[in-house]
Amino acid sequence: MSLKFYNTLTREKEDFSPIDPKKVRMYTCGPTVYNYAHIGNLRAYVFTDILCRTIRYSGLKLKQIMNITDMGHLTSDADSGEDKMTKGLLREGKELTLKNMRALAEFYTEKFKDDLRTLNVEMSDGMYFASDYIKEDIELVQKLEQKNFTYRTSDGIYFDISKVSDYGALWSGKRNWNKEGARVEENSEKKNPEDFALWKFNKKIGFESPFGKGFPGWHIECSAMGIKFLGEQFDIHTGGIDLMTTHHTNEIVQSECATGKKPFVKFWMHSEFVDIGGAKMAKSEDNFFKLSKLSEKNINPISYRFWLLMASYRTKVNFNWEALEGAEIALKRLYNLYIGFGSTVGKIELKYQQKFKEYLEDDLDTPRALSLLWNLIKDENVFPADKKATILDFDKVLGLGFKNLKEEIISKEIIKLIEEREEARKNKDFKKSDELRDKMNSLGYEIKDSSGGYKINKI
Ligand code: AMP
Ligand code: ZN
Repeated sequence: MSLKFYNTLTREKEDFSPIDPKKVRMYTCGPTVYNYAHIGNLRAYVFTDILCRTIRYSGLKLKQIMNITDMGHLTSDADSGEDKMTKGLLREGKELTLKNMRALAEFYTEKFKDDLRTLNVEMSDGMYFASDYIKEDIELVQKLEQKNFTYRTSDGIYFDISKVSDYGALWSGKRNWNKEGARVEENSEKKNPEDFALWKFNKKIGFESPFGKGFPGWHIECSAMGIKFLGEQFDIHTGGIDLMTTHHTNEIVQSECATGKKPFVKFWMHSEFVDIGGAKMAKSEDNFFKLSKLSEKNINPISYRFWLLMASYRTKVNFNWEALEGAEIALKRLYNLYIGFGSTVGKIELKYQQKFKEYLEDDLDTPRALSLLWNLIKDENVFPADKKATILDFDKVLGLGFKNLKEEIISKEIIKLIEEREEARKNKDFKKSDELRDKMNSLGYEIKDSSGGYKINKI
């Protein structure tokens, strides 16, 4: 095992080994469930899925948890703008109550889980609603209060970043808060522009707390839940790249100040955006698609997963329908070739397996892993049954769904014909085998023999 991941904290690809050799501990920033996820959001979870599968494939045990943000996330990602959950309730004409907020969260969480299932994203060991951990949030804020890192303004409890010398851990690969360069802030009561809310007061709706009624700041939920489920220090934290500058930066500083332990997390890993027409796909811009749009267009949603895997998770990708349709054609071809390798599953080709592992362990190099898959398919020296076994092994990470293919792609009738033809050839009954081949042709399939076995293609 020699895992290497790009760490946003150091801006370098580093060797990875878990703090506790027995188990990797990973936290994933989950969605804010005030609306459907768009396919851009889902990239963050396909990336995490590949990461989790790779860690397990390389022989390590893993505990991965994900929060579901069901309160406290403002549209700015910082302390200004509308509360996203409130926005969701208003949009749906619902009364502003905690009960309705929870119901809204539960509805969109189920939709989110459906999307994950559709994309073959394996579920986290635990997905937790942030609002179930208010007690932990309060305790963490109190710890920071006791240690004098906080102050109160008319609208909340804030973290005072001038109390730390190394704010901004994720900004440029080193801790570098620069007061002069800080952005102008709209809240004049803040002592420093980058100070952020740990608790925001809200008289209308919110949770009771020793500070006053309101909501925890968005960042504190991830610190509190990370510490609760994974400990005061853990191995990996993931999220989309936009979470780096504010959300994750603030998570780090508040966690480290509360616990007194550094680093809070060893590896910070971020996935890049999905753009559309050169701009970030975003709910607010009206340029997004839900996953269900693919099925409406008769496109298998796994083609989207496959398309994402063609690029590194650290590369921005530009979505367009032609590219997705191209991926769909390539994936169908892969499926057909796989089915064409017959029904026997042989043994894994170790040479290929080793390369595959090497590519994935190198910061999740899925593009190289996919070209290896094509090479394996073309390799005349590998028996079809062994190709099949090796593809199934690769699919433990790729998650393209080879295992359950059969009936979906080639009808049972074709499989029966293939088997009968194999039998005829074994018995040297070439007349029969030719007849069977013609029958397959008439049903739209072509069979070609080669030294490594045979291949089936759709005509
Ligand atoms: P949200 O539900 O807004 O909290 O976002 C969920 C996840 O989607 C976060 O990790 C974001 O960084 C990520 N994300 C948002 N927009 C995009 C996009 N256009 N492309 C890729 N990831 C995105
Ligand atoms: Zn988070």
